[in-house]
Amino acid sequence: MEMRTCRICNEEKEITLFETDSRKTTKKTNRCQACKNASQDKAARAYHHLRHRSPLPVEVTPAEIRLLFEVFDGKCAYCGKRPEVSRELTLDHIVPISENGRNSLANLIPVCGRDNKSKQNRPLVSYFLNNRDKFPDENMTLVIEYMALLSGSKKEAVAAELTDEHISYELKQKVKAIEKEARTT
Ligand SMILES: [Zn+2]
Ligand SMILES: [Zn+2]
Repeated sequence: MEMRTCRICNEEKEITLFETDSRKTTKKTNRCQACKNASQDKAARAYHHLRHRSPLPVEVTPAEIRLLFEVFDGKCAYCGKRPEVSRELTLDHIVPISENGRNSLANLIPVCGRDNKSKQNRPLVSYFLNNRDKFPDENMTLVIEYMALLSGSKKEAVAAELTDEHISYELKQKVKAIEKEARTT
């Protein structure tokens, strides 16, 4: 009996338990069927979660979310870890919901629950600069490359736009802090 090791769960299973390569009817991929189903559930959950969280219309389909998760290989785009519990893979809005960030493929990125929670409404670059220890440079590069590919813009243009968002956010925070101090003195 032919056996194969799943690249997601690392379990050795019988070849018939593996996902079929959709381009070829006889070929099998390196991901087991159980892991494939878990990925579909994850995408469906993330889709429903979006509809509850954001007041704006949802412009992505569950199938697109599944594809997005697969592009990042089920890993968090920021810390690069694959959440052990499947429900922990969430969608982060690159432009936050509070800044009217859209529920579109170009504005969503798969991240772990912990990163999503701690980033809150901060722009991507602000979060990156404050978390250099767990958010490696190469992951930031990958996110920028992905955004450039999706929008058809140059990587430099995407990076410049993200940096602008970061600078204006930091300025706003500074103004807020100064105003607060002025009120208390
Ligand atoms: Zn598996
Ligand atoms: Zn993460």
